[in-house]
Amino acid sequence: MARKIGSRYTANQILGRGSAGTVWLGEGPEGPVAVKLLREDLASDQELVGRFVQERTALLGLDHPNVVSVRDLVVDGNDLALVMDLVRGTDLRTRLDRERRLAPAAAVAIVADVADGLAAAHAAGIVHRDVKPENVLLDMQGPLGPGGSHPALLTDFGVAKLIDSPRRTRATKIIGTPDYLAPEIVEGLPPRAAVDIYALATVLYELLAGFTPFGGGHPGAVLRRHVTETVAPLPGIPDELWQLLVQNLAKAPASRLRASELAGRLRELLPLVAGMPPLDVDEPDTEPGEEPEEAAGQAEAPRREQVRRGAVPLVPGAKPADSNRDTHTSMRVPAPDELAGGARGTARVPRATGAPRPGSARHRAVTRRRRLTLGAAALLLAAAAGVGTWLATSGDDAGATPQDRSSSAPASP
Ligand code: ADP
Repeated sequence: MARKIGSRYTANQILGRGSAGTVWLGEGPEGPVAVKLLREDLASDQELVGRFVQERTALLGLDHPNVVSVRDLVVDGNDLALVMDLVRGTDLRTRLDRERRLAPAAAVAIVADVADGLAAAHAAGIVHRDVKPENVLLDMQGPLGPGGSHPALLTDFGVAKLIDSPRRTRATKIIGTPDYLAPEIVEGLPPRAAVDIYALATVLYELLAGFTPFGGGHPGAVLRRHVTETVAPLPGIPDELWQLLVQNLAKAPASRLRASELAGRLRELLPLVAGMPPLDVDEPDTEPGEEPEEAAGQAEAPRREQVRRGAVPLVPGAKPADSNRDTHTSMRVPAPDELAGGARGTARVPRATGAPRPGSARHRAVTRRRRLTLGAAALLLAAAAGVGTWLATSGDDAGATPQDRSSSAPASP
């Protein structure tokens, strides 16, 4: 069933449904396009429409081979639509679901592509804010690269910023996953370019391991881990690649690389990982007390031994396991020039103290279901109330007083 979108476009067939709306295969004056028709409740929000129009120039100006370009913004009656380049292929989540883990060369090549796209965005002063496998499209018509991967393009630029105002996220169920949220966002700092690097490093870890480094269980627990825990090592990963991962998962935003540097370093590592099979990583179990309720009572494979995760001490004066991770004592707000990237210094590899994160196949399935049902309202509430409470009350960290948790809602960059 075709429908007109403004005077220039026709939407012919649904390609997929996302959190913000439905993506259609469309036709415009210059040929096929993808049309993202925003959900009705978003389209009827006058404030949102106003911001949509305001952002027009920035969104339309981003033109890079690894970015899904927004060609047009259409506000027409009740319709609010983004007209985008059509990418013929699949999204990275679908590929990951199919393959469970990617060969390191494919993972590195895909993430290097996305880092290149981010570099262009950051140089233009745009922070994506929602880097995750669902927002990476693989262009099956593009040439095959290392590890048999097609070119990767980052999509949904600006959408998170447009729809993610605190007022809106409180009032509606914008879907959010906490797995890719940088610790500084959890702590209420404005999202700068480095949040995208953290999210992208999380994606790389996930492509290699089959689970995210801090995901699993209750969303509030995930938020807490972003702030307080060290990343668990991945057996079999080349040391250089591991160091790069750790550096870009650093709690302190300034310790992470710029997008262009990250892309360059990843490409340098391609020969090292060429031909490597996917990692053979143990699926982690859920820790006691962190299981989502849905999982309770389900038949389960024999549990592996619980292994302690690495944690960053929050007690003032205590020496943290990794000095780059003591966000409460050393994190600073990155300078404006860091919008164009901006890493200084290099994080040390942390002492590996933990086991792989919770995230077994069953656990991930349950977590994904929860993602689809949990709104950002819950997320923000958890960020505001939960994290602060945990930090103040969790057993080992009793008495810790994070210095910077005055604000909790993500703000616009
Ligand atoms: P989400 O909100 O979960 O990120 P989207 O609304 O961006 O999802 O996309 C929904 C589906 O539409 C995705 O599965 C993706 O494969 C498809 N899609 C999104 N953008 C494009 C595009 N530019 N070209 C082709 N398919 C797209």
